Parts: sequence; structure tokens; C-alpha cells
Amino acid sequence: MTNQNAVAPDAETRIDKLISVAMSMSNSRLLPGAAVPESLAVLGAFLGIPQKKLMKRIEDGGAKGGAKGGAKVHALVDSMRASSPSRVKSTIPIPGNQDQSSWILHHPSALDKFEQIICRSKGKQIVAFLDYDGTLSPIVPDPDKAFMTKKMRATVKDIARNFPTAIVSGRCRDKVYNFVKLPELYYAGSHGMDIKGPSRRGHSERGNQILCQPASKFLPMINEVYKILLEKTKSVPGAKVENNKFCLSVHFRCVDEKSWGALAEEVRLVLNEYPKLRLTQGRKVLEIRPTIKWDKGKALEFLLESLGYENSKDVFPIYIGDDRTDEDAFKVLSSRGQGMGILVSRVPKETDACYTLQDPTEVEQFLRRLVERKRKSSDTLPKVDNCRL
Ligand SMILES: [Mg+2]
Repeated sequence: MTNQNAVAPDAETRIDKLISVAMSMSNSRLLPGAAVPESLAVLGAFLGIPQKKLMKRIEDGGAKGGAKGGAKVHALVDSMRASSPSRVKSTIPIPGNQDQSSWILHHPSALDKFEQIICRSKGKQIVAFLDYDGTLSPIVPDPDKAFMTKKMRATVKDIARNFPTAIVSGRCRDKVYNFVKLPELYYAGSHGMDIKGPSRRGHSERGNQILCQPASKFLPMINEVYKILLEKTKSVPGAKVENNKFCLSVHFRCVDEKSWGALAEEVRLVLNEYPKLRLTQGRKVLEIRPTIKWDKGKALEFLLESLGYENSKDVFPIYIGDDRTDEDAFKVLSSRGQGMGILVSRVPKETDACYTLQDPTEVEQFLRRLVERKRKSSDTLPKVDNCRL
């Protein structure tokens, strides 16, 4: 078995071969409906190469192009297909004990394990970090109409009354604010590259405080690429390019699957000219962002530091998200040994989150229970000694 940390001379070739095999498996009658992530999990486990590394290879290939650009676009398209919830099948057994039942065993429902979570957080300051799309709002065909329900807004408002709360989204900060409309929250837009603190004067902009914009020098480049992508993707019906200020999104949720290859190729060709930008992928969206080492995990760390919890052992961050970009935050919490990540997903995924919730409805229920529990006297909480995970 290959050492995951070793750099074998033929590693590059082997990874490319793996991607090709995974692509052919995705079209195989033996594995109907199999998508690249599942196929990569199978093959990666066999050769001792993490699935994440293989997926990153696909993303990097999509951005860098070169002689293998065509094959990488095909792989990227399969990855795009895999990101569509309707195409992700849970019937494919994934090695490493990650089939459906095993996955639930290792990543149980945060609702089912609510009392355990309360035990873990007892005596500590909960800080809530919430992704927006797919977490507080459903994934809808038109990203401009990804509204949260009134019930969810009321619950998030209550959460913010009881705990420091931040929205961490890939969207432009102003846009996600217009969806949430709660001035008492922290907002980290553009995958955490645009962070603003809560207003002290209601909706007054003058009362808000810009806390962090680490990618500000990329603004001209992002705007330039936005205009180019707008033009280049006109030929792909349903494609929608969104300017998130410090990053861009190319939504393909309304693009016919037959056109995904053309769209991926257009994006790849544009990014060939901008090596300081990289391509990542979310749910039904291609993300273009600066190559700086900043992500939702860094944003989480920054906000904890800003709130005065940098070295505190009495803080319990809870991060809830549904996307691969949220994994950076889950990983930070895992490495800090603090708090917990909750992945919003109905199907098994490789994740560093501890718990799961199925959809925004369950997220609302979980947040509501947190609020209700906070309102009760701490005397009613279970004794720590009785709490075992
Ligand atoms: Mg999301």
C-alpha cells in the first residue's frame, strides 16, 4: 500500500490514470449512476491516495489546462454531475466503512445526538457559524431567489440574541446580507474574504465595521474576469455568472447537462490566462477565486480571534454547512479539537464534520432547540459525568 505522504515518481501519471478509470466507471453498466467522487473513493482507497487529493487534481486540471485539458474538462464535467444532488446515489458502497449505515454511524444526526452536543458545550461559549445556500436556504434553480423562510429568519435572529453568530458564505457579502437581513450578525462573504462586524446603529452602514478583506488587491482582476465570463458563457443557455466581489460563481443548476462540457471548457480557457485565480467547485456551481491561502476555515479562525476566543478553551464553535468549501472550516475545528462541524447532506460524503443534518428544515429545528435549551436554566442540563460520545 502506498504511503499517502510519500511522493512517488510516477504519482502524477498514476493520479491521471485514476481519474480516467473513475470517469469510465461513472459510465459503466457495472456501476450505474456512479459519479466521480464515489469512483475515486474506490480507486483511491485501493492505491492509498485520498479521494480529496484526486478531486483537487480534477479542479486544478480544470484551471490549468494544457495538453490534458480536454480530459480534465471531461473529469470536471463528471464532477459537476456528481455535485447535483439528484444524481448522487447512495446505493454505491464506498470502501473504508463509508456506506450509508456506516456513514450515519460515524456522522450521526445532530438532532438525534442533541443531548450529547449540549454536554460537550456545557460551560463553554457557543459561537454559531452558518453557511447560507443549502444550509439556511434551499438550493433553488435561480440563485437570486434562494430566500430563507420567515421561520428560519426568526430562528437565526434568536440564535444571534443568545450566541455570537456569523454567516459564512461564498456569496457577495452584500447579497447574503440582503437575504438574511439581520444587522446583528457577522457576515463573511466571498468565502470569508470579506468580513464585516455587526451594526451598532441598526441598518446604518456607518455603524458597520469592515474587519477583514485579504483579497482586495484582486478586485480589478475579478471584475475583468467577470466581464469576460459573462460574454463567453452567453452561448451556454442557463449559465449564470455571479460577481461575489472577491470571487466569482458560474452557476450551472439551470444548464442542460449536455452543455456542461461546453461551459467547463469556456471557464477553463478563460482561467488559463489568469494563473493567479483558481477553480474550485461547490453544489451546482463552479467557483473562481484568488490563489491566496484564505478560505472559510481561515475566516472562522479570524472571527474567533476577533471575538476574543483565539486561545480560549471555553469556547464551543458550531459550524453548519453543506458544501465542500465548508470542509475547510470543519477541518479547522477538528484540528483545534474545539466545537464541532455539522454537514448538511442527505447522502454520504467524505467530511471532517462530526454530525449531520439532512436539510435546512433540520437546521432550523437544531438551531431552535439550541435557543430553547439556552433559555432554560443551566441547572436542567444533564450532568457532564453522564455524557459520553
Ligand atoms: Mg452552501
